[in-house]
Amino acid sequence: MKSDIRVCDEWREAHERPVYTLSETCPDCGADAVNSAPAPYNPEDPYGEYRRALKRRVRE
Ligand SMILES: [Zn+2]
Repeated sequence: MKSDIRVCDEWREAHERPVYTLSETCPDCGADAVNSAPAPYNPEDPYGEYRRALKRRVRE
């Protein structure tokens, strides 16, 4: 049985971050929950490192 993790379809409007659930509706706001792949949001923030690197260079 494949996992079926869903994410609140309205999370950008209703929440500060994606709300994941195994049910068909968001447990927080009741909106539809949609299949989460491809991930709509990368919690690791691939650009965070880049931004920090730029900051370190400011006074070089
Ligand atoms: Zn929601």
